[in-house]
Amino acid sequence: MKSFNKYNVFAKFVAVTKSSELLDLGRRIDSCGSFVVVTHTHPDGDALGSSSALCRYLRQLGKEKVAVVREDAPCTIAFIAEGDPLLQGDDALEAIAGAQMILCTDFNGLSRAGAYGQAIAESKAYKVLFDHHLNPQMQEFDLVFSTPEVSSACEVVYSVLKALPHRADFSSGIGDCLMAGMTTDTNNFANSVYPDTLVMASELIRAGVDRDSIVAKLYNRYRKNRVLAISHILSEHMQLREDGLAVLTVSKELWHRFGLEEGELEGMVNIPLSIDEVKVCIYLRESADEPVIRASIRSKKGWSANRIAAAWFNGGGHEQASGGKLRIPEDIASMDQVGALIEKITI
Ligand code: 5GP
Ligand code: MN
Repeated sequence: MKSFNKYNVFAKFVAVTKSSELLDLGRRIDSCGSFVVVTHTHPDGDALGSSSALCRYLRQLGKEKVAVVREDAPCTIAFIAEGDPLLQGDDALEAIAGAQMILCTDFNGLSRAGAYGQAIAESKAYKVLFDHHLNPQMQEFDLVFSTPEVSSACEVVYSVLKALPHRADFSSGIGDCLMAGMTTDTNNFANSVYPDTLVMASELIRAGVDRDSIVAKLYNRYRKNRVLAISHILSEHMQLREDGLAVLTVSKELWHRFGLEEGELEGMVNIPLSIDEVKVCIYLRESADEPVIRASIRSKKGWSANRIAAAWFNGGGHEQASGGKLRIPEDIASMDQVGALIEKITI
């Protein structure tokens, strides 16, 4: 198994654009005929952008058997991956079993591929990971491009596509996917911005990506419900603790009352962090379709969202942005018990 660590991978991207691993990946892509691109459950902008960009690259090379396997995209960000050759359910499992190469993006281990994780583990395909989370499960893949010191999985994919022997044409939609995913994961350049992130943005704009239009689609096309729901949640369902913990709770009744759709409260978890005294924000949402409470956690530098996600919510992610979930009743009896659980959490 070959792997990159945060130092050699970026030294190679910057200094030696045709490293042997990249040549090897290029050769393997040339010789494979069937591909599956997979990303994490509840895909966000980075998951959609990175997986769609890889799919579009393979099609640009003339590959005909390319499928994207993932859950449906929230309608707010579905435009990023419009036209993906999407497979789900049994069709997806069949494609995974028959694929010669599986490309995984924006997760650190196959357990984050939900219902498809086991099939991917069992598939004989050559497995490549493009990621930026902590603790990548190296043993699950044949080749790993991963470092936490980038903005996004889209930035990792950009670096690889730029360096492969068949360079991607970023003006053809691939660049839009990557720009959109990087923009959402950096919260529009508010966090996780590294020197190469800005180089990527600059090169993509130069290649013809219309960033203004992407930003307008991402941030200025919400329904009124979103603003009304957020203002209600902040005034009625936000707890601020003296030690700097903010908690937002959204029950499924509230979700229904405002007629919310998946993805519509994206970004809300960051709002309490704009208060000086708030160091960590936990946003808890009762799922409407499964007995689960989802957690989204964000922290300021010096506090660890990742530690709280791992210790209390069966999750993980990045140091300052993590997620997880509580199963009802295995982990918590009901939404009513959330207050008691929060009391135990130290930041
Ligand atoms: P979000 O709060 O936006 O859903 O997720 C923040 C970050 O945490 C993302 O990078 C996401 O991949 C990661 N994350 C979200 N949910 C989970 C989870 O259940 N398990 C793990 N390991 N990571 C998660
Ligand atoms: Mn990401």
